Amino acid sequence: MSKQHVLIAGGGMGGLTAALALLKQGIDVDVYEQAPQVREVGAGLWISPNGAKVLNALGLQAAIDSINLSARDRVVRMWNTGQEWSVYTKQTGTDHNLIMVLRSELHRVLAEAVQAIKPDALHLDSRAAGFTQDGQQVQLQLENGRSISGTALVGADGLHSKVRAAAFGPSPGRFTNAVAWRGLVPMERLAQHHRLPVASTWLGPTAHVTSYPVRKGDQEFVSFSGQAETSQWTVESWSEQGSIADCLQDFKGWHQDIVDLIENAETLYKWGLFIREPLACWSTGRATLLGDACHSMVPYLGQGVNMSIEDACVLARCLQMQGEGDTPAALMRYSAVRAERGAATVQRSLAMQYVFHNDALANPATATDYVNQNWSPAKMKERYDWLFSYDANTVAI
Ligand SMILES: Cc1cc2nc3c(=O)[nH]c(=O)nc-3n(C[C@H](O)[C@H](O)[C@H](O)COP(=O)(O)OP(=O)(O)OC[C@H]3O[C@@H](n4cnc5c(N)ncnc54)[C@H](O)[C@@H]3O)c2cc1C
Repeated sequence: MSKQHVLIAGGGMGGLTAALALLKQGIDVDVYEQAPQVREVGAGLWISPNGAKVLNALGLQAAIDSINLSARDRVVRMWNTGQEWSVYTKQTGTDHNLIMVLRSELHRVLAEAVQAIKPDALHLDSRAAGFTQDGQQVQLQLENGRSISGTALVGADGLHSKVRAAAFGPSPGRFTNAVAWRGLVPMERLAQHHRLPVASTWLGPTAHVTSYPVRKGDQEFVSFSGQAETSQWTVESWSEQGSIADCLQDFKGWHQDIVDLIENAETLYKWGLFIREPLACWSTGRATLLGDACHSMVPYLGQGVNMSIEDACVLARCLQMQGEGDTPAALMRYSAVRAERGAATVQRSLAMQYVFHNDALANPATATDYVNQNWSPAKMKERYDWLFSYDANTVAI
């Protein structure tokens, strides 16, 4: 082990990936997580090739394979008729393969991998309140009054990051006039045609829905998230429950398959979609940020988790390369490598809103042409290749 000791505020996807990447580089870490138990919200997420490259290099390929319910096809579908276009199949040979997992399963895999190297790395019920630093050390302050010293601090404490606030001041979110619904539907509640291993994105005039199967052991579910435009302000929280009636209202006139998903969901959550001004620099002295703490984004490109995984990898490489010499310089290097890509992903995710939602889809005379033009193989490449081809393991630092 080197003499570096990195404190991580937040044991979510990014914080745990960073802990694992650092431990693998021989750097000691402690993770301080506000939740009293290791637990994640019930929903699916997809890991795209850029995230998978990092997880594979961390030795997680077999563990991820065991929780992946691999989709053989990605399709877009028309909101009212269900007409379908295949935009990626495993046979096309492009590297757009998506890994579909339950968030709680990915979280478990990451936590187990960290604990296999350092069993007492994860400190639960430990909410970060702020930090101080001097030339030699950084002190993480917890809400319970404890203060812990380390050589570096990583704020991986999500959307409402206390580390970001302490480092860079308040950063209020701007409501994007859209809400996201998400739910998990036990497979046995659904008719046979819902059970295909296919990831579907349904396109509509003012809303869209992404759905795909996920599994936990022998149990299978369809995970869906539906984003709908609204002028009504909604709270920015992933654990706010919503009603089936309200959700059906947002998807009035949609295809019966979408109605089936909404009506059979175990629990429906609703959250407001906000964005923040990107930070030009994520680091100050011995403190830095990663994941949603520095680039929260709307979920339209499915990149929130993948970006936090990339951040974690580059951060660990920068700290390892700099050694015990100059931690602030290593954190500045990390920010310089990552901030532009983070900001670009925030902007491009937001721009997708009006690709998924478009007035042309309301009119049968224009709807089909709109999909043909906007979901052609060329458009898919333009939209996703720059994201998926990035390799955080080898990018110049
Ligand atoms: C329904 C849904 C579907 C999504 N689908 C995808 C997808 O398909 N692909 C994708 O790439 N992204 C997806 N995302 C986005 C993605 O989940 C997030 O961007 C990602 O989790 C960010 O990781 P993070 O570690 O920065 O934050 P989080 O995973 O949110 O972790 C932050 C952690 O910090 C903890 N914390 C908060 N405050 C404090 C504090 N003061 N002190 C200590 N701990 C604290 C929290 O409890 C949490 O454990 C989805 C999000 C949602 C809600």
